[in-house]
Amino acid sequence: MGDKPMAKVALDRKQLHAHLPRHVEGRIISIRLQHLPDYYQLDATRAGSGTPFLIEKRNERPGQQGSKGNCSFMELKLYNTLTREKQVFTPIDPDNVRMYVCGPTVYDYAHIGNARPIIVFDVLFRLLRHIYGADHVTYARNITDVDDKINARAKEEGVPISDVTARTTKQFHEDIAALGVLPPTVEPTATGHIAEMIEMIKMLIANGHAYEADGHVLFNTPSMKDYGQLSRRSLDEMIAGARVDVASYKKDETDFVLWKPSDAGTPGWDSPWGRGRPGWHIECSAMSWKHLGEVFDIHGGGIDLAFPHHENEIAQSRCAFGHKVMANVWMHNGFLQVEGRKMSKSEGNFITINELLQKWPGEVLRFNMLRTHYRQPIDWTEKSVQESWDILAGWYAKASPSGAGPNFTGEVLEALLDDMNTPKAIAALHQMDDASRAANLAALGFSGDLTDPRAGDVDEAGIEAAIAARLEAFKAKDFAEADRIRDELTAQGIQLRDSKNSETGERVTTWELKR
Ligand SMILES: [Zn+2]
Repeated sequence: MGDKPMAKVALDRKQLHAHLPRHVEGRIISIRLQHLPDYYQLDATRAGSGTPFLIEKRNERPGQQGSKGNCSFMELKLYNTLTREKQVFTPIDPDNVRMYVCGPTVYDYAHIGNARPIIVFDVLFRLLRHIYGADHVTYARNITDVDDKINARAKEEGVPISDVTARTTKQFHEDIAALGVLPPTVEPTATGHIAEMIEMIKMLIANGHAYEADGHVLFNTPSMKDYGQLSRRSLDEMIAGARVDVASYKKDETDFVLWKPSDAGTPGWDSPWGRGRPGWHIECSAMSWKHLGEVFDIHGGGIDLAFPHHENEIAQSRCAFGHKVMANVWMHNGFLQVEGRKMSKSEGNFITINELLQKWPGEVLRFNMLRTHYRQPIDWTEKSVQESWDILAGWYAKASPSGAGPNFTGEVLEALLDDMNTPKAIAALHQMDDASRAANLAALGFSGDLTDPRAGDVDEAGIEAAIAARLEAFKAKDFAEADRIRDELTAQGIQLRDSKNSETGERVTTWELKR
């Protein structure tokens, strides 16, 4: 269903309000208008923006979710780690939906595990923009550019930390752009928000949630009654987690650092507690506050960050501002393994995005990531990456997303609205007509570029000429010649792939380097 291009009609708000119950504003719904015979999908979220509602005709009744009168609802549902439930997402302000995702610590190449949240929340960003409008979503993803790992790296290389952070940030941007990731609305840096961090720490000391000891400022976890609500760890586990910095000046074993002193050789900033630098957790509380407010809609990151990092972000923000939540919805992507094993430098299976991009097109890596639901653990294998390439190559030969207007439609949209079920969306893509598939792929961040990164070393023009000669041989029914050309290319490590253009019925041949 929903594969044919949808007919669009514009109705003004007055006409629509006759049909809409008030509470559907701010959500995508489907509605049957009495004077029209078919079902229409409309985006009711632009209510108040002054633009007419856009209604898309659906061929079938959307057979899902609740219905009231003659309205069927299509709502965005997201799994919330905080409540351990899938819930209907209702933004605080549909005109400005706000999302924060923890970004990289910039001291080295990002690995493929780091790419997972970046890709997953990029898809959510695109989906939110589709639902609420591109100008009505604020996405903040930070850069951690003050950290002991950065300091160590700079010392090792004998350069200022800004050299390490600037170079690594640039590399990170290039790598994720190749993965089809949109820049966030705002990309705050920790070093650009030291004043906000100091201000928050002052608030926490003033209201009795933090204390100064031995040049450090610590958050006192027993001061917060429901500390640990997100990760739901036992006290023993929390103590084990906080053991990284055991120190005599701590009042409680689970207390964590907000500010620590810097010696002359370490980067530091002046503060009421002497020259020092922030702990890691306080930076995300300060940056999300600055850019998204005291309470915002969605906070995301990898599941490994749930404790202690996110737990401590929550403690800081809630205790500083006195709200029940920091963000309404907490989303976490699952772990990534490589070839069935935990990725680690000692295992020899530690792979950076950059290394993968030297071997595979970025789109293939993006697609491979989305074949697993974001909450499930993913096993990253060479075999699955090759399969991903084959699927995309087959689709692109029929209709490339480069020529399609990006749009989420039909069952792809329905699957994404159901807690971003990308494997289900991909299953729906397989069933779609070529034009709809291309439009949905474009909306998912695919551009149609499958250039083999290793192709620079081969004679592309020569291959294209051989392919053209082979197509001529087919036309002349000289199959022996066609086979000879194919075999010659195979011998050079060039693999041909034949498909049919769905409109003209003509043979289309693409090539790739054998792996
Ligand atoms: Zn964070």
